[in-house]
Amino acid sequence: MSVHLQIEATRGPARAGKLITPHGEVETPVFMPVGTLGSVKGVSQDVLEELGVEILLANTYHLFLRPGVETVRKMGGLHRFMSWDRAILTDSGGFQVFSLTDLRKVGEEGVAFRSHLDGSPHFLSPEKAMEIQIGLGADIIMAFDECTEYPADAPRARASMELTLRWAERCKNYFEANKYEVPWATESAELRSAGRTNASAPTRADQTQALFGIVQGGMDRELRRESADRTIDIGFPGYAIGGLSVGEARELTRDIVASTLEHLPSDQPRYLMGVGTPEEIAHYAQSGVDMMDCVLPTRAARHGLLFTSEGKLSIKQARYAQDESALDPACECRVCLRYSRAYLRHLYASNELLAQVLNTVHNLHYYLATMRTVRGWIRAGRSPTGAGPRM
Ligand SMILES: [Zn+2]
Repeated sequence: MSVHLQIEATRGPARAGKLITPHGEVETPVFMPVGTLGSVKGVSQDVLEELGVEILLANTYHLFLRPGVETVRKMGGLHRFMSWDRAILTDSGGFQVFSLTDLRKVGEEGVAFRSHLDGSPHFLSPEKAMEIQIGLGADIIMAFDECTEYPADAPRARASMELTLRWAERCKNYFEANKYEVPWATESAELRSAGRTNASAPTRADQTQALFGIVQGGMDRELRRESADRTIDIGFPGYAIGGLSVGEARELTRDIVASTLEHLPSDQPRYLMGVGTPEEIAHYAQSGVDMMDCVLPTRAARHGLLFTSEGKLSIKQARYAQDESALDPACECRVCLRYSRAYLRHLYASNELLAQVLNTVHNLHYYLATMRTVRGWIRAGRSPTGAGPRM
């Protein structure tokens, strides 16, 4: 199997280990920064590497519109195009398309929508979403699902879940028939013929991407159980919990995640999509989630909202204008070690590009440090109290 989870320690429902991918190992539980267009806004790849990022998320919908999958494929796939040799996960595009409430029409075949850029018409189906994601060449790709809106009544939540299950089957069929089309196949073949790899050594050409299934079912525990069981019956190397953080109360999110986790295989990766605050990612990692992604740390950073060991801080506030202290005195990121709150506040107030860069670097470091701390707790078998990022 091209992607699998190697569990090395458990504590209650939580597990720590490694996600083995064609582009390296990823320490889990892991937080995946979002690089929508093949770029984590404001942060270059070498800085991401220095921060210890081992896997990035990129958005299929956005890359499909710009620069287009053919360009990325011709450039050797997303890894080579963006010069990132570590792991990548792409979403299916479904979530973004469903967010285009006024610009889309959902049918059995797929979703017709208009580009948010220029209004041009497009169509995404399970097969098309697979074709695009195979062309982009991420290590982990996601089934094309319908993100059930909130609130949804019982018949609507069921119909939506059934559609997602039919689409999951179509995704798997297309993927199995076309998985060797991934761009690294040619990359490895070229390297071999150029004598740059040992002909007998395993290369990425022997590996494929991994397609993960997505559990839906709205806010109904019983539907979630059914969705999990039937998605597992179709059979995937990993499972995601989708359709959350769509406007429901945080308590309800926790409830649904907890009850869904019970039904997912214990030996395969579990991915909670689009969640959350530092407290939430720490909580979910301790509940047995292995992978998470969220735009919060990067988006908030661009708005001057910073996560620190003392809580949230809005750097735009006048009270920091002459504050010589570090953004977060407990943080060891390159920003906190070097700059004062006064300087960061000045950069933000002056609309300097550097403000976005530095704020993003700090927030990402904070999220990654939070996960490092949780991994340490799981491995040490200790309770989450004491030093480290605040839970
Ligand atoms: Zn920092």
